[in-house]
Amino acid sequence: MARIVMKFGGTSVADLDRIKNVARHVKREVDAGHEVAVVVSAMSGKTNELVGWVQNMPKVVGANSPFYDAREYDAVVASGEQVTAGLLAIALQAMDINARSWQGWQISIRTDNAHGAARIQEIDGADIVKRMGEGQVAVIAGFQGIGPDNRIATLGRGGSDTSAVAVAAALKADRCDIYTDVDGVYTTDPRIVPQARRLKKIAFEEMLEMASLGAKVLQVRSVELAMVHKVRTFVRSSFEDPDAPGMGDFLNPPGTLICDEDEIVEQEVVTGIAYAKDEAQISLRRLADRPGVSAAIFGPLAESHINVDMIVQNISEDGSKTDMTFTVPSGDVDKAIKVLGENKEKIGYDVVQNESGLVKVSVIGIGMRSHAGVAATAFKALADKGINIKAITTSEIKISILIDGPYAELAVRTLHSCYGLDKN
Ligand code: ADP
Ligand code: ASP
Ligand code: MG
Repeated sequence: MARIVMKFGGTSVADLDRIKNVARHVKREVDAGHEVAVVVSAMSGKTNELVGWVQNMPKVVGANSPFYDAREYDAVVASGEQVTAGLLAIALQAMDINARSWQGWQISIRTDNAHGAARIQEIDGADIVKRMGEGQVAVIAGFQGIGPDNRIATLGRGGSDTSAVAVAAALKADRCDIYTDVDGVYTTDPRIVPQARRLKKIAFEEMLEMASLGAKVLQVRSVELAMVHKVRTFVRSSFEDPDAPGMGDFLNPPGTLICDEDEIVEQEVVTGIAYAKDEAQISLRRLADRPGVSAAIFGPLAESHINVDMIVQNISEDGSKTDMTFTVPSGDVDKAIKVLGENKEKIGYDVVQNESGLVKVSVIGIGMRSHAGVAATAFKALADKGINIKAITTSEIKISILIDGPYAELAVRTLHSCYGLDKN
């Protein structure tokens, strides 16, 4: 007997038939004698609808912030998961399984105060563990917890993955299965590149880079938690027949295992390609080339919670003036330009230019640590396709390249095949 946490994403619970299908997956593990806790997302599209409703409400008159009250945003958007948890508990009960639904505050899943993007701080799993021992299945609403102000707090988009891994760590589960609409983690998004290959295993560090650099199959924070708490996490499909042979295999379930790198015997140089849309580039022209200028630019941007990514500073031709270019998410451009304008005197630049609609494509692989020439291969392959590179950043296990938006899919496909990742 083992303890398993099973998480089902939005498309897996998109309608009543799919919720009944999810119940069959749960029943399979219960019948095998395992203790089971389930974490569910809202039905597909529901969270977007709830967010849209909040955004279309009138703003507080006279408020100098263009944003709504984040606590009430959380009260509204967390409701989707409550519905699915209740419906799945009903479906399980109808199959003669002792099941009970739980919201974040009932467990409780304690978070910090960052409403809308809260982080889980502590989970009190004692009651759930006791009930699991008595044969009860806990059906937990993902994406939500309770903040220090005793109000519902949500974990950021895609946050049910994080709920699941955090619950698995708190309950000391033997495994955390993330069920979704693809049957594992692929070498790149299989919806963009049909030649993408499913990976049997991927190292935590690589998955962390893939998720941070745009692969939305797992929320970044969930991978961090899995890595820190050594949670054995599988990504697998809810669309396969729950009773097909091998589906209940405890050691080798179908899907992709996220694990320590030493568990991966044949490490490829490049494991995967990720991409992130909606990047924007901002350039400060004819900037004073002196100590402190970077601090004058990036300090105020950080204080305004603007996430700066790639940074390129040109060599100064005359020793007194230079150009600085960096990227931010497209949605933050207006805010960034405003902050830079407010600090123009202090920074000392001539003009600011910006360009939106760019895409960052990234090549990821632990094998890069010990192989030279990986970046050069990417640059040559992109050049052969006539794709212009606007900026580059590298780390030990990744190379990120900024390009024009319309070339995104071509670039992902090109990089995928130039490293031999295509199927067959
Ligand atoms: P869920 O609703 O189950 O949480 P998501 O839509 O958040 O599912 O994540 C699954 C999607 O992630 C897939 O449908 C796929 O298009 C996308 N995806 C992006 N990159 C990858 C990748 N490398 N491997 C698998 N899926 C990926
Ligand atoms: N329902 C939430 C969202 O759409 C959380 C999740 O699905 O993981 O972002
Ligand atoms: Mg998701």
